[in-house]
Amino acid sequence: MNYCKYHPLDGATYYCENCQAHQCDHCVDDAQPQSRCFVCGAVAESLGAGNLVQPFWRRLPEAFKYPLNASSMSLIVITSIASVVAVLMPFLWLLSILLYLFAAGSLLKYSLTCLEHTALGEMKAPDVMDAYQGGLGLLLKLIVISVVLTLLVGGVAYYVGPAVGGILGFLVVVCFPAILIRFAQTESLLEAMNPVAALALIGAIGLPYGLLMAFILIMMTSVGLLQEWIGQLFPAVSYLLQSMVSSYYTLVAFHLMGYMLFQYQDQLGYSARIEDDEEQPKREEADRIAAQIQVLLKEGDYERVVTLYYQAFKQFPNDARFFESFFELLYVCKKAALMADFGSLYLNFLNRKKRIDKLTPAFKQIRLIAPDFLPDVPALRLQLAGLFKQQGDNALVIKLLNGMHKQFPDYPELPQAYFLLADTLAQLPNMQAQADKCRQMAQQLEKIAARKQQEAAEAQAAQASLQARKPPSVKTPSTQAPGHRPPPTITKSGLTLELVPMEPVKTAAAED
Ligand SMILES: [Zn+2]
Ligand SMILES: [Zn+2]
Repeated sequence: MNYCKYHPLDGATYYCENCQAHQCDHCVDDAQPQSRCFVCGAVAESLGAGNLVQPFWRRLPEAFKYPLNASSMSLIVITSIASVVAVLMPFLWLLSILLYLFAAGSLLKYSLTCLEHTALGEMKAPDVMDAYQGGLGLLLKLIVISVVLTLLVGGVAYYVGPAVGGILGFLVVVCFPAILIRFAQTESLLEAMNPVAALALIGAIGLPYGLLMAFILIMMTSVGLLQEWIGQLFPAVSYLLQSMVSSYYTLVAFHLMGYMLFQYQDQLGYSARIEDDEEQPKREEADRIAAQIQVLLKEGDYERVVTLYYQAFKQFPNDARFFESFFELLYVCKKAALMADFGSLYLNFLNRKKRIDKLTPAFKQIRLIAPDFLPDVPALRLQLAGLFKQQGDNALVIKLLNGMHKQFPDYPELPQAYFLLADTLAQLPNMQAQADKCRQMAQQLEKIAARKQQEAAEAQAAQASLQARKPPSVKTPSTQAPGHRPPPTITKSGLTLELVPMEPVKTAAAED
């Protein structure tokens, strides 16, 4: 049995010749009709479900539930009652024999159907209706098989010697389930009794075959025990009960035999898959990318892992698993450069998901890995600063806001940012002067912003009138878009705010 290289507990369903690796359904690219290897992209060879199937001894609970459905149970009850009635009226011997044969034949036919269906991967008991027809012929064949085998063993024991006869008898008993399986598959006397075919079947299955035999033996013994316990008291009830229990066990045993065929389909040379009630929906693109990421991660191909993650961020901007798992990966592996790059993306994602509560802890985690990290979006910085202000983390507020007027001179909320910075500085010891300066700057920024707004409105008006007039005047200052105004405007207005030397603040905050 082969297992998936990436899921050592799951059976393999594919094999990549190129990588010499076994994969499960989850670990191949099933976008196209022919599944491909996630690592090298070559077409992977399909192995069928043989490796997927649980061994039958792990399936015993399900096997015992197999006959527990209305249709199977009704057959068990009807055939049991029929055989009890047959036993109770020996005076009408012809009728009673016919009744008995009908009951046994129906059960046999149904059991063989169960075996066949299970072998093809159908794990639900088949419909019972056609069990009542054609069972007699099968039963007669089975009786012929039994008689022939008994005569064979008896003849050998008589003519050759009891020792050889004993060995042959043992062999026949061992082969009997295999003969039954062959009989179910072919419904032919000669095929079923072909000793080479039976031995080949046992050889292909191996040791579990012995286990199945032991299991059938245990079930048979338990029917005998049942008879001993209550047989003396209520013969008729006991017989009915016995018959029902042994019919039930028969169905379980045939289901298990069929299951064994299903499990060893590879060795027996056929390929079947477990039939589900409904067709499995095709895997979503997002799931496929997630699966490929897992495979490449286990292969250690981090470059492609990162590429796939960024592809996923673009394609599925609201799929939490990609953002969370990549964040976790970078955090655990301490990838500073990647974390610095991904940080803003992750914080924006949290915002999109309205997980405001996670913003500040995530920001702190990012800075643990990438100590110089600051979001590259001014709004995010201001938002974080506001949150940290609420939490009283003044040092981080200052880090987030300091120098914003240089980095984002066109950010319209700049005045708010500097008012917040001023408030924060005012709370720190020995920073009153800085706070005042900062507040002045905020006020000036406010004025600049107001002026910009006015200019923008004027520009718009001018443009509108220009378009109305047609002749394009070459160099009017108003054609310059306000967004392209370089930072010097700030210095022009008298603000030389390199401002707020942060070092003393840091130490002051640290001393706090
Ligand atoms: Zn796998
Ligand atoms: Zn491959």
